[in-house]
Amino acid sequence: AAKPALLSVNNIEVVYNDVILVLRGLSLTVPKGEIVALLGANGAGKSTTLKAISGLLKTEDGAVTRGDISFDGERINGIDPDKIVRRGIFQVMEGRRIISDMTCLENLRLGAFTRRDNQVRQDIEMVYEYFPRLKERTGLAGYLSGGEQQMLAIGRALMARPKLILMDEPSMGLSPLLVKEVFSIIRQINRDLGVTILLVEQNARMALQAASYGYIMESGKVVLDGTAEELANNEDVKEFYLGGG
Ligand code: ATP
Repeated sequence: AAKPALLSVNNIEVVYNDVILVLRGLSLTVPKGEIVALLGANGAGKSTTLKAISGLLKTEDGAVTRGDISFDGERINGIDPDKIVRRGIFQVMEGRRIISDMTCLENLRLGAFTRRDNQVRQDIEMVYEYFPRLKERTGLAGYLSGGEQQMLAIGRALMARPKLILMDEPSMGLSPLLVKEVFSIIRQINRDLGVTILLVEQNARMALQAASYGYIMESGKVVLDGTAEELANNEDVKEFYLGGG
């Protein structure tokens, strides 16, 4: 039986600066507890889609001008990013965006900014279990390696205890070995904590190994979708997205 949708994006249109139409009727569904991959070439609109969901679009003068986004049964278009975090959606931005002049621990605490419970300390220990290296790094986050920064960004997202994590290109700038490590942790987090994940990736191969379902975007809309297995075996996908390595 199909799992209930946690997130559904219905036919959205997104415009930057009142003029540049970037998403043209994009729809997708993310079932509860799953990892869903959103794939496509540079400039297809993947990051824009995540920002439309997390409310961060506003900070770049973008707006959802048509369609709607619903999360946990409620419409969330137009809501401010901090309120979206409170509802349970956390975006791990492309390029990691950790605060480089704060320590790892301070960055992790920042992820918990919406929480009023007393389990923050305990969750920091949980993050250290996933990413033991972060516990050893006591200096400023700016001195971490690219892989460690990516881990910190994911750890910080976990600190919000989100229902849905939006992950923008976790493999970006990492060595093949680290990409494997980061993806294995993403799967573990999904399995252990039941966190739903919408994963944007250029690395289609890795993404389709982790995800159960995938969408392929071109020029602001979905051109193909299917189970990860269907997509991995699709001739066009193989040619355009899985070619080479
Ligand atoms: P990438 O992998 O390069 O990030 P993407 O699929 O995530 O690609 P987006 O970053 O969503 O694509 O960009 C989609 C289109 O929107 C591009 O043509 C881009 O130039 C344009 N765009 C993105 N951000 C802005 C902005 N703040 N203002 C105007 N145009 C933008």
